[in-house]
Amino acid sequence: MMLKDNVKRIALVTGASRGIGAATAIRLGAEGYTVCVNYVSNVEAAESVVRSIVDAGGDAFCVQADVSKEAEVFALFAAIDRMAFPLAALVNNAGVLFTQSKLVDITADRIEKVLAANVTGSLLCAREAVKRMSTEFNGQGGVIVNVSSAASRTGSPNEYIDYAASKGAVDAFTLGLSKEVAAEGIRVNGVRPGLIYTDIHADGGEPNRVDRLASRIPMQRGGTSEEVAASICFLLSDDASFITGSIIDVTGGL
Ligand code: NAP
Repeated sequence: MMLKDNVKRIALVTGASRGIGAATAIRLGAEGYTVCVNYVSNVEAAESVVRSIVDAGGDAFCVQADVSKEAEVFALFAAIDRMAFPLAALVNNAGVLFTQSKLVDITADRIEKVLAANVTGSLLCAREAVKRMSTEFNGQGGVIVNVSSAASRTGSPNEYIDYAASKGAVDAFTLGLSKEVAAEGIRVNGVRPGLIYTDIHADGGEPNRVDRLASRIPMQRGGTSEEVAASICFLLSDDASFITGSIIDVTGGL
């Protein structure tokens, strides 16, 4: 499958084996991108996303890499470089949180893990993408979308301040990088999802968290991964050609 101008291009979605990343990968596959489905450990889930894209007539391949480790990020981008066509889109989606706790109970080891996956991982992938997309490096331009969280606005008290802080960092680097590379053919934007039905809430120790909090959402319901994917794909598309340094809240009004 080709994009509408008949040129093949790669979209890398980090953490694309499950949740928001999987929904985004499947949608980008349907739009004609060759999708690189990154995952860290769940190979069955990643292969299932690749199968969904291929069964629908698209192109995809999966690459295992822990984005918080620079050597693995280098290997991930080396796998992309082996393809015959360019990287045009990066969705920095991989992210983690841990058990709901007050700051007084959060260890240094946990803080380091959260910042490494959510901040270092996104910065490293953005850096490698810029090297390939920027016209300064003889690239053809491209688009980056960072998946932040409404937690960067609420601060997630009593749940995961470390995670909220990591997403504040993602918002800051979205704005900074957007200005740094705006004249090099690269747009950089973000989305801030609210309460979305995915596995991540079980990692926080409360699989039913979205249902518990749904009545506090102005729209009175949680969101789906597909609804977040739609906003990500809008920002990646030519319909967003004059949008950079923007962050869309996908929260049902929260
Ligand atoms: P999820 O269902 O828990 O899926 C997480 C994905 O990230 C999985 O594909 C996982 O791979 C991958 N991953 C985790 N650590 C990684 C690492 N170090 N390197 C590479 N991949 C890694 O999460 P989700 O809810 O879809 O969240 C996706 C993004 O949206 C995250 O950045 C999250 O912070 C953000 N977000 C989610 C919500 C929500 O309510 N769900 C709200 C706001 C923001 P494996 O399958 O291999 O484990």
